[in-house]
Amino acid sequence: MLLDGKVLSNKIKDELTKKVKNFLVKPCLAVIQIGNDEASNVYIKSKEKACNEIGINFIHAKFEEDVDEQEVINKIIELNNDKYVNGILLQLPIPKHFNQQKLLNLIDKNKDVDGLTDINVGLLFKGNNNLVPCTPLGIIKLLQEYNIEISGKHAVVVGKSNLVGKPLAMLLLQNGATVTICHSKTVNLKKYTEQADILISAVGKKGLITEDMIKDNSIIIDVGINRIDGKLYGDVDFDNVIDKASYITPVPGGVGPMTVAMLLNNVIKNYENNVEKNSR
Ligand code: NAP
Repeated sequence: MLLDGKVLSNKIKDELTKKVKNFLVKPCLAVIQIGNDEASNVYIKSKEKACNEIGINFIHAKFEEDVDEQEVINKIIELNNDKYVNGILLQLPIPKHFNQQKLLNLIDKNKDVDGLTDINVGLLFKGNNNLVPCTPLGIIKLLQEYNIEISGKHAVVVGKSNLVGKPLAMLLLQNGATVTICHSKTVNLKKYTEQADILISAVGKKGLITEDMIKDNSIIIDVGINRIDGKLYGDVDFDNVIDKASYITPVPGGVGPMTVAMLLNNVIKNYENNVEKNSR
C-alpha cells in the first residue's frame, strides 16, 4: 500500500489555511539564500508557492556568493528582531567558504523552522523537542496517519546526515523503536536492512535498496531524491519492492510534500506560541 504524502500534506495544508484565516496578522517565513544553487532555486520557489497557498507572507533574502559574511549576519539579526517574522531558514547548501553552523546558530531558536541550531538539535537529543527538522517530522506524521505502530519495531535508518538520518533516528527512538543507523562505512548493508520492520533510506543513490534487501511486509520510507534525465527517482527499487513491502512511499509524492507541510507547520507553531506568550 502506498503511503501518500501528497494527500496527507494537502490535508495538513487545508487545516493550516483555516487556522491562518483566523489570525489577525499574517505569519511570515523568511528564507536566506547565498549564491545561486539551481536545486535551491527550485526548493525556494516551492516553499514560496506553499506559503502563498496557505496565507503565509514570504521573504526571500538572496545574497551573491561573494557577499561579506557580516551582511548575512546583519540580515539574520534583523529577521530575529522582526516580530512579524515567525520562521527563518538558511537554504542549504551555502558556498563552502562560509561557516555554515556559525550562521545557523545565529538564528533565534524559536524561529529556527529547520531545527538545525545547536540548541534545537540538543533539545531533540534530550527528548525536549522544540523545533524539529521538517523531513524527519514529516516521516513520523506519515506513519502516524496510517496508524503504523512505531513502538517496539526495529527501524533501520540508512544515512546519518544532520538534516535527515540523525534527527529521524532520535524521533524513532522517542517513539519507542529500536534503531539501527547505517551509513557509507557500514559493511554488508543488506545484513541490517533485511532485519528492518521499518526501513528508511536517506542516501541519494538510485537503486540502493533492492527487493532482496528487505523483509516481507516491512514498511519502506524512501527519502532519496535522485534527478536523472529530468526524472525523479528515490533510493528504492520501487517497482520490485512494492509487492514485498506492506507500505511504501512513492517518489515523488511521498516524503517530499510532507517536508514542505512540516515547514509550514513549524512556522505556524512559532506564530501560535508567540500569540500565547503575548496574551499571558
Ligand atoms: P547527505 O548529507 O549526503 O547524507 C547521505 C548519507 O548517506 C550519509 O550519511 C552517507 O554516509 C550515507 N551513504 C552514502 N552512501 C551510502 C551507501 N552506499 N550506503 C549507506 N549509506 C550511504 O544527504 P541528506 O541531506 O541526508 O539527503 C539524503 C537524500 O535525501 C538525498 O537524496 C536528498 O536529496 C534527499 N532529501 C529528500 C528530502 C525530501 O523532502 N524528500 C529532504 C532532504 C533530503 P556517510 O555519512 O558515512 O558519508
